[in-house]
Amino acid sequence: MATPQIEFGGQLPPKDTTEGEAFSRWYTTAIRRSELADYFEPVGGTMVIRPYGFSLWENMQAGLDHRFKATGHKNAYFPLFVPESFLKREAKHVEGFAPEVAWVTHAGGEELQERLAIRPTSETIFGHFYSKWIQSWRDLPLLINQWANIVRWEKRTVFFLRTTEFLWQEGHTAHRTSEEAHEETMRMLGVYADFAETELALPVVRGEKTAAERFAGADSTYSIEALMPDGKALQSGTSHFLGQNFARAFDITFLDQDGQRNLVWTTSWGMSTRILGGMLMTHGDDAGLILPPRVAPTQVIIVPIPARSEEDTSRVSEAVSRVVKELTAAGVRAEADWTDKRPGWKFNEWELKGVPLRIEVGPRDLASDHVTVVRRDTRAKEQVGVPGVVERILQLSTDVQASLFERALAFRQANTHVVDTYDEFKAVMQDQRGFVQAYWCGSADCEGRIKEETRATIRVIPEGAAADGPGVCIYDGRPAAVRVLFAQAY
Ligand SMILES: [Zn+2]
Repeated sequence: MATPQIEFGGQLPPKDTTEGEAFSRWYTTAIRRSELADYFEPVGGTMVIRPYGFSLWENMQAGLDHRFKATGHKNAYFPLFVPESFLKREAKHVEGFAPEVAWVTHAGGEELQERLAIRPTSETIFGHFYSKWIQSWRDLPLLINQWANIVRWEKRTVFFLRTTEFLWQEGHTAHRTSEEAHEETMRMLGVYADFAETELALPVVRGEKTAAERFAGADSTYSIEALMPDGKALQSGTSHFLGQNFARAFDITFLDQDGQRNLVWTTSWGMSTRILGGMLMTHGDDAGLILPPRVAPTQVIIVPIPARSEEDTSRVSEAVSRVVKELTAAGVRAEADWTDKRPGWKFNEWELKGVPLRIEVGPRDLASDHVTVVRRDTRAKEQVGVPGVVERILQLSTDVQASLFERALAFRQANTHVVDTYDEFKAVMQDQRGFVQAYWCGSADCEGRIKEETRATIRVIPEGAAADGPGVCIYDGRPAAVRVLFAQAY
């Protein structure tokens, strides 16, 4: 995505997903106009997450955090600075991250004896401490997560998807056996998939990355991949089985039950603000964002409709206050818009911001003890009796959440192509994009050439990919065990 310059109050263009620049303009304008985020021009690649965007992130964090705790993890905080010698200890790790690391070379008015990296990820710092904290098999498994910011240098910004500094969580765990570490890797991939689908209404495919796409220093990497409306894939969370690579580099050993001193097995897994961008791209429409109710900062906006008489005006405001109070008591994030702007203006504004449900309270409806409820996703309107508002809103929230997921899933299904020849493959990548399932022999050479010629990469070897039985590689015709998932990616 390019970074178009947008006038702050610019009109929201339609969500045209057929053309990269148009889609980018919709995405960027919707985010700025809805006050989720803003650019910080003096430092390219950075952005501000404004209060509305940060509330959204906090709701997402809460959904993930409770899943981490339910699977036995505890939160902690580790230092931002990583000594260069730490990064160098795991050869592949430093090689993979070197190009995007920002270094601190001077501090306190003098040159540092050793350069400090601003963490691009924290395997090495965790490794350093785990070697001190783990002594015996009784200390295992060690399951720690941290919520933090990291820096991976970028020259241009695409809100949430591509920024130099971003927010994320990184889990780092150490285990007694390879099997346990592998189980953990898959468990957290499952947590990510469940979170994306349940909270964000974002359907994902899970699977293993090829060697070429693996995390630097991992034995195997797994990810969840979502299909964006322009037919490109977004890697939305990764879980790595690190084998004993970091245990060896940082000498993380423990005394096992049999008295032997062994190396631990480690994992790491991360999800970032990137998935927030994926969620926005997926659900929004020509009128702006559409937020899934489970994470929306405001789930219901209540708009009072002005009345002519004083008596009606006070009836409207009483009803608005009562509805807000009852919804809040039921745990709904509800808010009334008391500003003096016209109702039509307010409708547009809250639609732009993606609030899933709107209640209009006006004198005409109130005369029969009703209010009007409008869904953001379908724009469907209905009259609801005031005594039944809470119940109906709870039901509609569930419905909106479910239909956003169904819509995204139907889109993905319609845009997942099964192809058997390279000609078909190229035609799909050129005309439609989307996910393509095709046989691949396992050679990095075929993978590299396909990428060069079509810009499509192997997103994952999906779970259950072997079910189709063996076939032949679309690129060189050699025997292939499974169909893998290709796409152009963000
Ligand atoms: Zn091949």
